[in-house]
Amino acid sequence: MANAIPSRSENYSEWYNELVKRADLAENSAVRGCMVIKPYGFSIWEKMQRALDDMFKETGHMNAYFPLFIPKSFLSKEASHVEGFAKECAVVTHYRLKNAPDGSGVIVDPDAKLEEELIVRPTSETVIWSTYKNWIQSYRDLPLLINQWANVVRWEMRTRLFLRTTEFLWQEGHTAHSTSDEAMAETRQMLEVYARFAEEWAAIPVIKGFKTANERFAGAEETLCIEAMMQDGKALQAGTSHYLGQNFAKAFDVKFQSKAGTLEYVWGTSWGVSTRLMGALVMAHSDDSGLVLPPKLAPIQVVIVPIYRSEEQLAQITEKVKEISAGLRKKGISVKFDDSDANKPGWKFAEYELRGVPVRLAMGARDLENGTVEVARRDTKEKMTVQLEGIVDRIETLLEEIQQNIYDKALAFRTANTHHVDDYAEFKQVLDEKGGFILAHWDGTPETEERIKEETKATIRCIPYNAPEEEGKCILTGRPSSRRVLFARAY
Ligand code: AMP
Repeated sequence: MANAIPSRSENYSEWYNELVKRADLAENSAVRGCMVIKPYGFSIWEKMQRALDDMFKETGHMNAYFPLFIPKSFLSKEASHVEGFAKECAVVTHYRLKNAPDGSGVIVDPDAKLEEELIVRPTSETVIWSTYKNWIQSYRDLPLLINQWANVVRWEMRTRLFLRTTEFLWQEGHTAHSTSDEAMAETRQMLEVYARFAEEWAAIPVIKGFKTANERFAGAEETLCIEAMMQDGKALQAGTSHYLGQNFAKAFDVKFQSKAGTLEYVWGTSWGVSTRLMGALVMAHSDDSGLVLPPKLAPIQVVIVPIYRSEEQLAQITEKVKEISAGLRKKGISVKFDDSDANKPGWKFAEYELRGVPVRLAMGARDLENGTVEVARRDTKEKMTVQLEGIVDRIETLLEEIQQNIYDKALAFRTANTHHVDDYAEFKQVLDEKGGFILAHWDGTPETEERIKEETKATIRCIPYNAPEEEGKCILTGRPSSRRVLFARAY
C-alpha cells in the first residue's frame, strides 16, 4: 500500500492535499491552479448541485446560460466591479494560431487580433445585466429570478484544490427586482438557502452575517455570507449573497416602468457557491483514515463486503445481500456490493474508509448461520453485530443518526473553539496558541480592520446576524463598539 496520509496534527495542509488525491476527488492539472475533478469527487458535487438546484427551484428561480466571454468594455462599466476583478482576469486577445516560420511549433497569429478583447468571465453580472436591459421594460417583467451553473476563471495567485482554484465550478444567481426591499429580502432568502444546505446536507454549522465594507463583493452594496470552521480552527467563507442596489442597473441602463408610470432603475442581487464547498466538506469532517461524508452527500451510502472461503459461501452470501440491497434501494439508499476477488476484505475496509462510505456491512458464513451482519459506521468507527431481521430499517435510521452526529460533532468543535476576547494582547495569543473564531469588539473603521489584519493575519469574517447589542471597546483602538464581530484566520 502507498504511504499513509499525514495525520491532521502532523501537517493539516498536507493531510488535506493528500486526502483529496487519495480519495479520488481531484488532482492537479497541467495548468497551474486548475484541477481535474475525478468521477468520485464529481459525484459528490453532483449531489450538492441537485440539492441546491432543488432549493433554487422551490424558491422560484429558473436556470439559464450566458456566455463564457465578456467584452472587455462591459467589465469597466461598473467602476468598483472592474477595480475588484481587474487583477485576476484572463483576457483573450487573438483567435488563431499559425506555424512558426522557424518550424518551432505554433505561435499566436498576429493577424488574428480581436477587435475587442474578451474577458473569460470571473463572474457574470456584466454580461447578464447587459442582457437584462433587453428583457426588462415594465414592472410586469419583474422579479426576474435566474440562476446559472457554470465555470468561471479568476487568476488566483495562491491556489489549493477545491478551496481556491483558478477555474472553478459554481452557480451564480442573478435577480432583478422593482424595489430595494424586495431585492434585500431575496439576498437574505438565498443566504438562508445556503445556510440550510450547509447545515442540513453538508452537516457544516455556519455563521450567517454581513461582510465589512473591505470584504464586500466588488460592485455590491452589501454582502452576506456564511462562514464555517475547519478542523484546524481556520474559517472558510462557504457562500455569499450580494445586495447590488441599483449599481448594475445604472451601469447597464436597465430601467423599468413602475405601476405609477415612472421610469426607475432596477434593483439587483447575485449569489454564489462553488466547488469550494467540496473542500469545506473534506476539511470539516474527515479524519486521519480518510473522508467522513455526511450520508446525504455520499455517492455510496452503504457498502457490503462479503467474507468467504469458498465459492459456495460467496453464492449464499450474495443471495442474502441481493435481498438487503433491494430493500435499501427501495428506500432510495445507494448500495455497493464489493464482491471483487482482486482484494482482501481488510484492504476493502481501508479503501471504503478512505472514501468515506458512511456504513459498511460485512457478511461472513457465520453471520449467515446466525442471521446477523456486522455493521460498521464510518463516523465513529463503531462496529456492531446486528440481526438481519429489520436490517433495512435499522440502516435507514443509522444513516440519519450519522448525518446528525457529524453535524453535532462539527458544532461542538466550533463551540469549543470560539473565544470571547476583550484585549489585543490576548487576541494575538489566542490566535497563535488556540486558533479558532474570536468574537471581539471593533470600532467599525476599515483602518482598524486593516491594521489588525496586517498585524495578526486575522480578518473580520463577518458581523454576525444575531450578534447581541453589547457595549464594549475596540480591541485595538479602545473606541466604543456596540457589538462583537467574528475574527479568524481564514482560507
Ligand atoms: P464571490 O463571487 O466572490 O462572492 O464568490 C462566490 C462564491 O465562490 C463564494 O462562495 C466563494 O467562496 C467562492 N469562490 C470565490 N473564489 C473562489 C476560487 N478561486 N475557488 C473556488 N471558489 C471560490
